Amino acid sequence: MKKVEHIGIAVKDLASANDLFTRLFNQPYYKQEELVSEGVSTSFFKIGDTKIELLEATDENSPIAKFIEKRGEGIHHIAFEVEDIDAEMERLQAEGFQLINQRPKNGVDNKRICFLHPKTTNGILIELCQEKAK
Ligand code: ZN
Repeated sequence: MKKVEHIGIAVKDLASANDLFTRLFNQPYYKQEELVSEGVSTSFFKIGDTKIELLEATDENSPIAKFIEKRGEGIHHIAFEVEDIDAEMERLQAEGFQLINQRPKNGVDNKRICFLHPKTTNGILIELCQEKAK
């Protein structure tokens, strides 16, 4: 794994969270993107070499809606950038980690992503991400 690419934070209301984090970081978000397949709307802030991703559910079946229902707002996942996501998924599965999706799927921010189940990672939802070739 190369670095922490971003930290994902689940929020109830993206517009008010955008406002809050803009004041917190003293800079605005640089992009907003919706991912219909996952039922989420996101915004990104760049902080030095890493990013903060805010996630709001756009429908009640969204994983973000379920997360907030169970645990409230807060840190949802930590995303690590990898060189070769297919190879890394294979390696981690062989190490006994449970993958939530068996094949990389399309994420926001031009990434291929995969999540590791928190029950095999000390309760932390971990995302692997690889930038798609342009
Ligand atoms: Zn993410």
